[in-house]
Amino acid sequence: MSDLYGVIGNPIGQSKSPIIHRAFAEQTGQDIEYRAFEGKLENFAADVDALRARGLRGLNVTAPFKLDAFRYANRLQEGARLAGAVNCLTFDGDDILGANFDGVGLVRDIQVNLGFPIKGRRILILGAGGATRGALAPLLEQQPDELVVANRTFAKAMKLVEEFSGCGELAATDYPLLGRERGAGYDIVLNATSSTLFGEAPQIGPNVFAKGCLAYDLSYGKGLCPFLRLARESGGAHLADGVGMLVEQAAEAFELWRGQRPQTRAIIDKITTPLI
Ligand code: NDP
Repeated sequence: MSDLYGVIGNPIGQSKSPIIHRAFAEQTGQDIEYRAFEGKLENFAADVDALRARGLRGLNVTAPFKLDAFRYANRLQEGARLAGAVNCLTFDGDDILGANFDGVGLVRDIQVNLGFPIKGRRILILGAGGATRGALAPLLEQQPDELVVANRTFAKAMKLVEEFSGCGELAATDYPLLGRERGAGYDIVLNATSSTLFGEAPQIGPNVFAKGCLAYDLSYGKGLCPFLRLARESGGAHLADGVGMLVEQAAEAFELWRGQRPQTRAIIDKITTPLI
């Protein structure tokens, strides 16, 4: 019988994780079965207990269960502890290891796939939710010249800056101030808000985009969303969405589970939505 893995979320129909992990398994010759599970909103622990009883070996975790998964784990990797959220669970008897690969997936996509070094660059991250929490420590590890967190609710950005101050230097700002203070713009602008899911863009001006910068929207499959359109209109920005981040975090999970690092380029190309 094949080893069983899966992804849990609610809703889950849109998830690309089964396509990605099945492609990894085929590429590396690993015998796994990978399925999508819709978790009940108030019942995460019971749902996962039942899946483990069926022999589940590992689980990717997507919205809205990353905090539930953090509580469910009885052992945490450092990235998950810092993020306060878990997007990958590994089961071995009573041992339940929680990891969070969102941030390392993002950093790998930016540097390796898109060819933008982070060291010495000015980085702006919009949003102060779960995705930003996962991204801050891995971004700081690359030693940017500047890392600024901006959020619609300024107090949340401030709180994150306080919490992550031990990982490196970072600052908080709000959107009105952002427009006024940065003449030259940022080298990498990350939209880690959920604005794209609502067909909106954060309230930022075109001056945040430095010439030749990378404008990166963490959501994926939405084509030229309002944030990326704004970046394009600023002139000279390179545009990317979060499909590479999704595939790279999946590759991290696959490697943890199966001990083999899959190639990611072909599957990124296969599931990319053109930014037009
Ligand atoms: P959360 O719900 O945790 O946080 C949402 C954030 O977006 C908050 O900071 C909120 O601000 C802000 N926000 C929401 N709407 C707007 C708006 N209209 N204008 C400005 N700010 C807004 O979401 P996550 O952090 O979990 O996810 C953020 C994005 O990252 C999503 O698009 C998600 O799909 C994507 N993501 C992609 C991954 C990938 O692998 N590519 C992995 C994980 C996430 P406020 O605090 O003021 O409410």
